[in-house]
Amino acid sequence: MSILSKRSRFAKNVISEESKLAAELARKGKIIIRLNTGDPAKYFRTPKYIIDAYVSALRRNMTGYSKGEGTLELERAVAKRYKRMYGVDVDNKSVIITSGVSEAIYYLNSEIINRGDRAVIFKPYYPQYSAYLMMHGGKAIFGRYNKKNDCEFDIDDLNRKLKRLSKKRLPKYILVTTPNNPTGGVLGRNALKEVVDTANEYGSVLISDEIYDEILLNKTKFVSIGEVAEGVPHIILNGASKNFDATGFRVGFAIIPEQDKLSMEIKDRLYDYVLTRLSVNTPAQHAITEALNNVSQHKKELSIMLREIEKRVELSFSILSENRYIDVVKPKAAFYLFPKLHINELKFRNDTEFMEELLKKESIWIREGCGFGIKNYFRVVSLADKDILNDALNRINTFCKKNAKRGS
Ligand code: PLP
Repeated sequence: MSILSKRSRFAKNVISEESKLAAELARKGKIIIRLNTGDPAKYFRTPKYIIDAYVSALRRNMTGYSKGEGTLELERAVAKRYKRMYGVDVDNKSVIITSGVSEAIYYLNSEIINRGDRAVIFKPYYPQYSAYLMMHGGKAIFGRYNKKNDCEFDIDDLNRKLKRLSKKRLPKYILVTTPNNPTGGVLGRNALKEVVDTANEYGSVLISDEIYDEILLNKTKFVSIGEVAEGVPHIILNGASKNFDATGFRVGFAIIPEQDKLSMEIKDRLYDYVLTRLSVNTPAQHAITEALNNVSQHKKELSIMLREIEKRVELSFSILSENRYIDVVKPKAAFYLFPKLHINELKFRNDTEFMEELLKKESIWIREGCGFGIKNYFRVVSLADKDILNDALNRINTFCKKNAKRGS
């Protein structure tokens, strides 16, 4: 008998996992170009006003536990932000602070999913979603996007799938991500309305991960699920990691605005969950309260970071567009590119082999599409310095040429 639980084997996150191969190459002295993790704080300094607020909280001895569900000031700041940005009425009692969006997703799965329960996830997905679902014994019903369009769901496909299911197998939740990791797509209002209607029809709760809602490129407009889901149970997830360039602070927000029975049950149980782990990092909560409330400073800092991200994404897109062995779509948000490999024209069996060979031969580390639930794509994080991106992406293009099948 194994000491380990069966569900523990699903505890995998391809995008944060250190690869044995990369570690071995590093040991041999190779310098690895990492285009594999979406951590802005590794490339842009967390704004000074946020760091100052953190240090000030420490100096003022704000070092004890906070309330399990977060400090009142931060709950209020999150509620105010959603009102200010999206006109959504959020009571501070509807906000629960978590150790990153990650913890919220974990707890929600734990409180909602029994063994064999279903939930809808759209492919390609952020890997944590399927890992946490499976760790709790759940099964995914996979939705998809419209062909060549990462901004609309293929809602007919999803409705066809759901129609066939017995009541017991209907999804407990439908999870959407906008802006999307890994595609950089942003869902339009109609796409969101369609998914709200589907959730309503099948009695599922909607979860919307909006963690990149301010990393919008080239003036792309964003619509929050909160704007279109009034009257339907929904949970909005967001946090400090990306918009405030503070991944290591581990501060996330779960917002459950509605007062219906389902929403209240989920909210009350989530309160129970956060009490079990006592508190989120207290000085970090104080710093993120300042980050949210100091709107003018935030706008200034964000626009500097965005301008730089736009340039880097633009550069990556223009270089990868020259590669005839891939199809690449320009992202509307975040800092990822997710090209499709013409795998039949290349000497690799699949995206995993492509990733490994690129790492071995060129010391460039990207992530394979299958980790996001979709084969023969790869994800490039476009946060590195322009010189590094320029060199690495041109080398990816040359690498594809060198490894093209004859006649391709
Ligand atoms: N959701 C998405 C879509 C992400 O891309 C990430 C991190 O990359 C997370 C959630 C994790 O967020 P946090 O740092 O708040 O746990």
